[in-house]
Amino acid sequence: MSKPEVIKADEDEVLDIELEEDFIKANEQMAALNRRTFDRQGVKVIDFMGSIGSGKTSIIERLAEALKSKYRIGVIAGDTATAIDAERVARHGVLSIQINTGRECHLDAPLVRKASKKLLRERVNLILIENVGNLICPAEFPLGSHKRVVVVSVTEGEYMIKKKGDIFRAAEVGIINKKDMSGPMGVDVDGLVKDALDANPKMKVVVTNARTGEGIDKLVQALEL
Ligand code: MG
Ligand code: ZN
Repeated sequence: MSKPEVIKADEDEVLDIELEEDFIKANEQMAALNRRTFDRQGVKVIDFMGSIGSGKTSIIERLAEALKSKYRIGVIAGDTATAIDAERVARHGVLSIQINTGRECHLDAPLVRKASKKLLRERVNLILIENVGNLICPAEFPLGSHKRVVVVSVTEGEYMIKKKGDIFRAAEVGIINKKDMSGPMGVDVDGLVKDALDANPKMKVVVTNARTGEGIDKLVQALEL
C-alpha cells in the first residue's frame, strides 16, 4: 500500500477561525454544492466529528473492514498536522487522503471539495470523512455530507455530552465509544446515551468498543450502509 497523499491548506484557502456570518454562509453554499456533486455521482458521504482521542480513526478503520467488499471506499482524514490517520486507514486497503489544516481546527466545505474531487476520479461510492479532533466548531461547518456522526468516548468523562450539546444537535448519529472503560472510569454508559438523546431526541445512538469491534454492526445499520 502506497503512502496516502497529504493536502495542506494554504493560508488563503482556510476560512477564518472567527465564526463570522460571511464565512459561515460561504461554507454553507459550498457544502450545498458538494452535496449536489455527491448525489449526482451516486456517492454516500459521512462526516465523523469528535474530540482528539475519542476513537474516530479506529471506528473508520472498523467500518472500512466491514464495508470494503460492498463499497469502493475513500477516506478523507482531517488533522492539523501529520498523516498518521490516513496511513492507519490505508493499511486496510482503502483509498485515503490526508488534509492538514495547519492552525485551523475544523474541516470546511472547500477543503473537502478539493479532496473529494480526487476520490471521485477514482470512482469511490462511499466517502468517510474524519473531521479535525474538536467538539466545538465542526458543528458550524457542514461539509455536504449525507450524515454527520459525533463520537464521544467514555474516557472523556460523564459531562462531555451535557457540555457540548450543540454538536449533538448537529448530528444524526451518536457513538459512545470505549464501552469497556466505563468500569475503570466510573462512567455510566446508559447515562451518556440518555444525555445524547436529551440533546437530540432524533439521534440514533450506538455504543461501541472500536478496539474489539463490538457495536460496529449496529453502527452500520444506524448509518444505513
Ligand atoms: Mg484520528
Ligand atoms: Zn475550528
